[in-house]
Amino acid sequence: MMSPQEKQKIAERIHQEITKTELDIARLEAANSPVSPDNAIGRISRMEAINARAVNNSALLLAQQRLRGLKSAMSNLNEPEFGSCVECGDLISLERILLMPHVKMCVGCAEQYES
Ligand SMILES: [Zn+2]
Repeated sequence: MMSPQEKQKIAERIHQEITKTELDIARLEAANSPVSPDNAIGRISRMEAINARAVNNSALLLAQQRLRGLKSAMSNLNEPEFGSCVECGDLISLERILLMPHVKMCVGCAEQYES
């Protein structure tokens, strides 16, 4: 189990990540606003604009997914089993939790599970 200090540290990091991800989402959403056909796109061709939009859209979906994972990690933070691997009970590393907040298994078990 994690100490309250460790949990506090994780809560702060998750909170930072949430703020960062929300900013990303706001930026991506702004970039996603429809370009009026009257607008001069400049040297960027229509195809390029459409491609850029698609890339931007998938980045937006990823960011939204990440935000949901971070928020659910945040709300699970007070569960006694938070941060422990559901398979072996070992602590999952902080970096792993922050990178993939939805994970419930440590690296070793996840690898076994996937193979
Ligand atoms: Zn494990």
